[in-house]
Amino acid sequence: MRVPFIAGNWKMNTTATEAEKLVLEMLDKLDRAKGVEKLLCPPFISLVAVNMMLQNSSIKLGAQNMYFETEGAFTGEISPIMLCGLCEFVILGHSERRGYFGETDEIVHKKVKAALTSKLRPILCVGERLAENEAGKTEDAISKQVTGALQGIEPISNLVVAYEPVWAIGTGKAASHEQAAATIQFIRDVLVKLWNRSVAQNVRILYGGSVNSKNIAEFASRPEIDGALVGGASLKSEEFISIVEQTAEIKGRAK
Ligand code: PEP
Repeated sequence: MRVPFIAGNWKMNTTATEAEKLVLEMLDKLDRAKGVEKLLCPPFISLVAVNMMLQNSSIKLGAQNMYFETEGAFTGEISPIMLCGLCEFVILGHSERRGYFGETDEIVHKKVKAALTSKLRPILCVGERLAENEAGKTEDAISKQVTGALQGIEPISNLVVAYEPVWAIGTGKAASHEQAAATIQFIRDVLVKLWNRSVAQNVRILYGGSVNSKNIAEFASRPEIDGALVGGASLKSEEFISIVEQTAEIKGRAK
């Protein structure tokens, strides 16, 4: 049984004060939502404060990125050992990291390896660009990203993968649930080939890209889709709470 998972990626939003306010607005209702794993990924500077606020709650904490080296002369970077003990998850290979900061599959691979060594749980983001989608090259792009990030890594079922088509992120144009479910099934098949069926069946695979309280029900209703990685809508407490509550309800009903 894969536990449904909803993660909020706040990206480069919220000052330290705003982050605390947002957590306060959501804490009680998110905490009460059962049957779904809930994750907040605020900016680095708020991790310590949010970690304290989430103590004794069922809400987990994640970072949005990290470097693969453990320490040294890497000005401005954050290492896995700095995150370990502070948060449980780390988002890796987000398309904004790939697109704006030149992260290649090779870099993402090093980050996944380093995260696992430090007992952090990676949320590996993959997704095709619009041109790849239009050229019918979605599966090629996804297969290259998944394999590039995970080849040579011991099978690990507590990995989370987020399928996030680049053209759907922050655009208000979500993929259809049919498209998302088909690509997520394809990702699971890639994992079967790369690792094995029993591990692949336990890996949670999320959809991400313009998810909101109006469209989450379509995605959550699909058995292939284990939840969502939510950007913009995770910054609005009512929206995010509704996404979590609907997912809990729909996935709970399907059990
Ligand atoms: C994201 O940041 O991973 C994301 C999916 O953003 P949005 O929900 O805003 O499209």
